[in-house]
Amino acid sequence: MKIKERIIILGATGSVGTTVLAEIAQHRERFEVIGISCNGNVKQALTIVQSFSVPNLAVVHPKISVPQDVGAKIFRDVDGLVEMVNTLDFDILVVAISGLNGLRPTLKAIERGRTIILASKEVLVVAGEMVMHLAQIKSAKILPLDSEHNAIFQCTRGENRFIRQLWLTASGGKFWNMDPQTIRHASVTEVLQHPKWSMGKKITVDSSTMANKGLEIIEAMHLFSVKPEQIKVAIHPSCVIHSLVEFCDGSFLAQMSPVSMKYAARYCLFYPERIDISEPSLNLFQLESLRFEHPDLERFPCLRLALAVAKEKQSKHIAFNAANEIAVELFLQEKIAFGTIPPLIESILTKIESKDYATVEEIMAVDQMVRTRTKQLAKDFYI
Ligand code: MG
Repeated sequence: MKIKERIIILGATGSVGTTVLAEIAQHRERFEVIGISCNGNVKQALTIVQSFSVPNLAVVHPKISVPQDVGAKIFRDVDGLVEMVNTLDFDILVVAISGLNGLRPTLKAIERGRTIILASKEVLVVAGEMVMHLAQIKSAKILPLDSEHNAIFQCTRGENRFIRQLWLTASGGKFWNMDPQTIRHASVTEVLQHPKWSMGKKITVDSSTMANKGLEIIEAMHLFSVKPEQIKVAIHPSCVIHSLVEFCDGSFLAQMSPVSMKYAARYCLFYPERIDISEPSLNLFQLESLRFEHPDLERFPCLRLALAVAKEKQSKHIAFNAANEIAVELFLQEKIAFGTIPPLIESILTKIESKDYATVEEIMAVDQMVRTRTKQLAKDFYI
């Protein structure tokens, strides 16, 4: 009998974490969840601890209290995530927490030569070179769980050197063909109604501004060792093709599956094998048209900014990510308008020198500095 794969899931209560757990629940003979983390949703985390008999739980939010005797060893704060990854005996680390909290535990797992299923795009956006370089030295596998990158990963198995271009598809959110003036004044409720994907609030806003696609361009550069000029974005409203690879001989490969993260999660969990499932997948005869559109950079200024940022050094990548995160937070609090997210990010980017860094501490310091400056600058944009 095959020994079970031991898994730690960081961000187990989020939308990606939940999807991964649902897949694991169907294959308990193959996997053993030995550690999970949550930010503040201890209630849901404890339900997972119980139903998967998880012996270790990390709670990141410093102000959330954890009841005693929950049947699991408790780790606290971001340091607790690193400690968990450093001390437990595991095979696979799933990184599904948003923000930079995933960076240090990811690096620690790579140092230990473990397999990483990576959903947190921020990790590669702020430290892609460091992460990929270390993974190569330590022979640690990085399996991308972001649907676009997962699609490309499925299409390029062993053929990275033949890539001519990568085509990232984007749903375009609900605004892809709306008039730019209307988009600028969209309310929080309107922005949060994504037509295709059901996701967390931050990523749903990012999908509507296409800042998400911007972050994914930087993510793809690092994952597949391609130049920013080799990455194209196509709006594909039906969301059936999750991305495409154009090879040097003129052939394209695309990956298709229904609009759900479970297909990417399943691929990563069973890689390099494929699991046999009994449920129906796509019905080709019921598909909408597979059309593609150019993204309009006037409608999506965040994508224009990201395309420029991708060609710059690391400091600009960190700044784009951090400024966007603060801008989205302020929009969700209804302090700034939807249309002021891009100019706020742009005004920070012009103030940051283009520079590379060698340590996590430097990355964290720049990230913090940008957050503080964005909050100060945002006051000029308040409604
Ligand atoms: Mg994605």
